[in-house]
Amino acid sequence: MSESLSQTLLARLVSFATVSRESNLGLIGFIHGYLAQHGIACELFHNAQGTKANLFATIGPTDRAGIMLSGHTDVVPVDGQAWSFDPFTLTERDGRLYGRGTADMKGFIACVLAAVPSFIAKPLKTPIHLAFSYDEEVGCLGVRSLLERLSQTPNKPRICLIGEPTELKPVLGHKGKLAMRCQVHGVACHSAYAPSGVNAIEYAAEIITKLREMGEALKPLQDARFEPPYSTIQTGVIHGGRALNIVPEHCEFDFEVRTLPGFDPIEVVHRLTEFTQHALVPKMQAVDAQSHIEFEPLSSYPGLATAQDSEAATWIADLCQSDAFATVAFGTEGGLFAELGITTVVCGPGSMDQGHKPDEYVSLEQLDRCDAMLARLAQLLRA
Ligand SMILES: [Zn+2]
Repeated sequence: MSESLSQTLLARLVSFATVSRESNLGLIGFIHGYLAQHGIACELFHNAQGTKANLFATIGPTDRAGIMLSGHTDVVPVDGQAWSFDPFTLTERDGRLYGRGTADMKGFIACVLAAVPSFIAKPLKTPIHLAFSYDEEVGCLGVRSLLERLSQTPNKPRICLIGEPTELKPVLGHKGKLAMRCQVHGVACHSAYAPSGVNAIEYAAEIITKLREMGEALKPLQDARFEPPYSTIQTGVIHGGRALNIVPEHCEFDFEVRTLPGFDPIEVVHRLTEFTQHALVPKMQAVDAQSHIEFEPLSSYPGLATAQDSEAATWIADLCQSDAFATVAFGTEGGLFAELGITTVVCGPGSMDQGHKPDEYVSLEQLDRCDAMLARLAQLLRA
């Protein structure tokens, strides 16, 4: 059987090792060239260092709001993972295509590019926008310059489809996330004179205990569409101390707040800083005025909760031929698009069960079904 265009394009996309810490310009250059061959101009939005770029393109009329097909071009690292194949060479085995990013989410981007000839075959009534970002995997950081551009566009896209892997089921929501780092700066001394020092680990422990209590207090506010159905707080990394006989001068830990859509995690940060300023810092500074506590945001993105009775929900149900609306545990750039008034849904080939793991794959069946979905889209937008 001959290879589909989406498979050929996926092989190209996978060959660019666009791990978030590396440049994505090779891949962006390839897409730029491919679109140019089809007479489609695109805009690039580079990062400050000029090493990465977002790509935005419009197919069809520019005087009206269209449909945006969106995906991130970066992938998670393969370090320390035991792969059976070269992760950056697409390998077909038993109906599956293996490679880093095949599911998350170059499979979708390949299908979108493969659909371009059908998007331009006949004039579209409703335009299609392509939006491909960088640095999604490290906290939806890269897409911000694209959002800036979209916010200034008179004809902003009406609906956005993000092709994250959902096995082509229609997904309308996910939680938001705020990741923070806390640094406790105490004062070291010989542990025999512990009260003369400010023990950074012990103060950090008090803050972490407080976070745990605050997490418990979030449970009553529930939304059954999500699993678990409430917002959660978790401390995940901690560093501190040098030796048992030294009062530790420094302790830092990272925590995250996973929020139901509509809940602003900044409330958690306000309450936490109030607690540290009133209950902890005075005690620390009574011993040494230099000691203090700092909080620093690492990354954040809002949750997504598109209404089941929205135009976008009806539209995606038609397109993917299922109205079994669901939510997912992972995050997307969707909440950021929704903040701009672009109703966003998530639906793409492959499964996140394979994402971020060794031997990540997308099945040929999923790629074919995504090709068919995008063919229906082309037809729909001509009408
Ligand atoms: Zn992803």
